[in-house]
This record gives sequence, structure tokens and C-alpha cells, in this order.
Amino acid sequence: MAQDVIIIGGGPAAMSAALYLLRSGKKVLLLEKEAFGGQIAESPRLENYPSIQSISGLEFSDNLFNQIMGLGAEFELEEAESIEKKGDAFLVHTNYQTHEAKAVILATGVKHRKLGNPREEELTGHGISYCAVCDGDFFSGKDVVLIGDANTALQYALLLAGKCHHVTICTLFDRFFADEILVEAMKKVPNISYRHNLNTKEFKGSPDLTSVVFTNTVTREEEEFPCAGAFIAIGQIPDNDRYANLVELEKGFIKANEKMETKTPGLFAAGDCRVKGVRQVVTAVNDGAIAGLSAANYLNTLK
Ligand SMILES: Cc1cc2nc3c(=O)[nH]c(=O)nc-3n(C[C@H](O)[C@H](O)[C@H](O)COP(=O)(O)OP(=O)(O)OC[C@H]3O[C@@H](n4cnc5c(N)ncnc54)[C@H](O)[C@@H]3O)c2cc1C
Repeated sequence: MAQDVIIIGGGPAAMSAALYLLRSGKKVLLLEKEAFGGQIAESPRLENYPSIQSISGLEFSDNLFNQIMGLGAEFELEEAESIEKKGDAFLVHTNYQTHEAKAVILATGVKHRKLGNPREEELTGHGISYCAVCDGDFFSGKDVVLIGDANTALQYALLLAGKCHHVTICTLFDRFFADEILVEAMKKVPNISYRHNLNTKEFKGSPDLTSVVFTNTVTREEEEFPCAGAFIAIGQIPDNDRYANLVELEKGFIKANEKMETKTPGLFAAGDCRVKGVRQVVTAVNDGAIAGLSAANYLNTLK
């Protein structure tokens, strides 16, 4: 068997699991479908990780990536499409090939929630984006609309305000659901404005976005905001249905116990992808460390 453990994901949970496994002398392959770092790589500032006052999400991820590479981690940029258990072995089928390992850790995080608007998909990459850190530079000096009302939306707005001409935050309800410190910071930025009670109706423009039309939920009138970009930050959802043959899911999140064990021996889950109360980097790396050690212990019990 080529690998001791396959870790699906390349975010903080996955890389922390790899760190603990590699230091236990196990052979590890990480599968990442997009880019190493996971969600935190999208954040301009990580300021609530104990002992680090402030660091960019990208630098944090790079440090972790370099740490595990230095210990001999292997990785492939592939998407895990399904997992099969064959005797004591796990077969992980990706979009390119099949890998085999004695244990698997799922650290798949969450993905961006979509509005479900008819032209959303067509205009993604043509003005619509879900990641201000990745795409903000494309809108330098331009007007953008930010759809969302919580921490990520406000972090995005603050980041975009440093690049764009003007940022208009549009929220569905009559308030923000973000940390007060972020709301206050946002209110002090002169090129950010916000509007409440707006429900996204239509994206206009072809081939590129030119405006977003909202329905005002109080007045019932239409309001159109000309813009070059629309950033959608309305939350995240899990993507674990493809593993439902081997794990128990609750609203799409994976159920795991304190040792990060799922219902299938040898299959573990860590980080934002599992049922848990707090989804943060610090809890993701905690899960990763536990999953890594639990997987190492599991391997030691195999003949
Ligand atoms: C803009 C933003 C700002 C944030 N700011 C903070 C902050 O300040 N402090 C804080 O503590 N937390 C913050 N968070 C939350 C934090 O980033 C997450 O809690 C943390 O990244 C979760 O780590 P994870 O490894 O569980 O999952 P993720 O970071 O989501 O990583 C999962 C990885 O798995 C990959 N993957 C998924 N499915 C597959 C598959 N089938 N095959 C291969 N790869 C797959 C994904 O591409 C992704 O890279 C922020 C999040 C965002 C979006």
C-alpha cells in the first residue's frame, strides 16, 4: 500500500493532521482540489490565533505548508470524488486517479454559499466573485457591491475599500450579524456605504457584469447599483455528500467523536467539515492534531 494516510483537503486542519502524522513517522499524502491554505488564505489578517498578534492568512498557510513539506509530506492537486473501503484499505478516487491508504482523514472545510440567482454562474469570473482576497485586485479603482451581512462580508468590504473606488454593502435584513468591532471599523471608512433590506433580484451585463438590481423588501421598489464587481459573502456550506457511504452526516457536516473518529474505523474528520460549535483556525488545527494522532494510533493497531 503506497500511503499510510491520505488527507483530503489542504487547509489548516489537513496540514495540522499531516504535521502530527509525519512527526509520528507515518507516510502522508494530501489531496487539495484548489490551493493549499484553505479559507484562511483568503483572509488579509489573522489576528485571533494565540501567540501571533497579526499575520496575513496567506503567510500563515505558507508557514504551515513549508513546515509539513520539510517533514516529507507528499501532495497532489486533485479533487477527491469518492472513497471506497476494501478490506482494511481505503481507495480514494480522484478526478485523475485512485490512491490507496490504510487510513483517511477528511478535512474538506466548507465552500461558498451561492445566492441561486439565474445569472450567478454565468457571470462568476465576469464580475461576480466569492473571494475578495483572490479577485479584489481586478476591481482596482472601480465601484463594487458586496452582498452579505456577517464577519466575512465586512472583512471583504474593508479589504476592497483599500483597492476599489467605492464599496456598497447590501444586506438582506435590517442589520449586520458581524462582530461590533468590524461594524465600527467599516463605518469609519469613507468609501464604504451600506444599505439594508435589499434582496438580490438580477445581475445585469454581458459578457461582464454592469449592475446589480435589488428589490427593497420594505418599499417593494427596485433599486439598481451600477458596478464592475459584485462580491457575494453569504456564508459557507459543507460538501460531504460524496462520503455519505462511510460517514454519518448532520446537515451536510460530518459527525465525529472527540478522537475525530467517524463511524468507519480508520476514517477520521477534522476542521470546519465536521459537526462542531466554533469554526475557526484555532479549532481547525486542534481537530487536525487530534485526528493525526488518532490516525497514527489506529495504524499502530493494524497488523
Ligand atoms: C474571509 C475569511 C476570513 C476568516 N478569518 C478568520 C480569522 O480571522 N480567524 C479564524 O480563526 N478563522 C477565520 N476564518 C475561518 C477559518 O479560515 C476556517 O475556520 C479554517 O480555515 C477551517 O480550516 P479547515 O482546514 O477545516 O477548512 P478549509 O480552510 O475550508 O480548508 C479545506 C480545504 O479542503 C479542500 N477540499 C475540499 N473538498 C475537497 C476535495 N473533495 N478534494 C480535495 N480538496 C478538497 C478545499 O479546497 C480547502 O482548501 C476565516 C474564513 C474566511 C473565509
